[in-house]
Amino acid sequence: MIRLGNGILLEMDGRRFRFDPRRTVAEELNMVSHAHSDHIPSSFRTLQVVCSEVTRDLIHVRRGKELDVVDDPCVEALEAGHIPGSNMFMVKGERSVLYTGDFCTRRKAHLDAAKPAKCDSLIMEATYGKSRYVFPDHEEILGAARDWLDDLISHGGSAVLFAYPLGKSQELSVAFHDLPLRLHPSIAENNRVLVKHGYKLCTDELDEHAEKGPVVYITSGMGKDKERVARMRKAGARTAAFSGWALDRSFAYTSTVDEGFPLSDHCGYDELMRFVEKCSPEVVYTTHGFDKAFASSVRKELGIDARPLIAKQRTMDQFC
Ligand SMILES: [Zn+2]
Ligand SMILES: [Zn+2]
Repeated sequence: MIRLGNGILLEMDGRRFRFDPRRTVAEELNMVSHAHSDHIPSSFRTLQVVCSEVTRDLIHVRRGKELDVVDDPCVEALEAGHIPGSNMFMVKGERSVLYTGDFCTRRKAHLDAAKPAKCDSLIMEATYGKSRYVFPDHEEILGAARDWLDDLISHGGSAVLFAYPLGKSQELSVAFHDLPLRLHPSIAENNRVLVKHGYKLCTDELDEHAEKGPVVYITSGMGKDKERVARMRKAGARTAAFSGWALDRSFAYTSTVDEGFPLSDHCGYDELMRFVEKCSPEVVYTTHGFDKAFASSVRKELGIDARPLIAKQRTMDQFC
């Protein structure tokens, strides 16, 4: 049985498996797919969880909790390709159940891609589950951003890049490592954790008053940083946002940035569909984003039983 509430509950073989709980539950097996705030618990009845060591360390800096990572013979953690440390979980019992969490099947410079795995039931995110969301080639997007930055810097200009602090920020840190990168402190903190795990990432923070030449500043642009960004813009810096939602024509306008690049840590519609096909499950449960629309497309296009598990509006933030 698969049920909603406090993450997603799977009851199988007399056991309770809990995916991405808001509150970890003692006596259950708690699994945390990755360290984005909408997936990590906000309270803990037990600190024993199944997650990657990278996720454990990121949760430590983000929540101040020391998790005790456990294994379970019924659970296999698979690469989710979403952000550093992200996992999908395959639970094997009377049925095989694959929970994707957030996932991405495009390989990136700093991250392997999620690969489909045969299962009986598939619980998957459908953030970009409408056919208009098909992403251009990853390298092409980064190439266009590189051209834009090179042009700007060669004219002595600075850039502010808006990106989610975990995921996109690391990808930009890798892609533009040879440029004068500066990071928001929260991004530098994440990068410092990842450097310990072998990622090659810049950890330089911006010292606004000491900078002499052009800089490329990566930030979420949220909270107190809004004022700093406003000062940089006033001094001539140009802005760009990196988000899958940049495929929407209104994105650049609504986000009031100079450029929008459709870089995403999620699958596009075509990739979601191909993933389902290759997992060839008997039933698909969709969550997040266009869950209803995508379930309906799976039924029509693939003839596989599919239904939304969480019927809610799009709640992903704009940098997903
Ligand atoms: Zn995520
Ligand atoms: Zn998410």
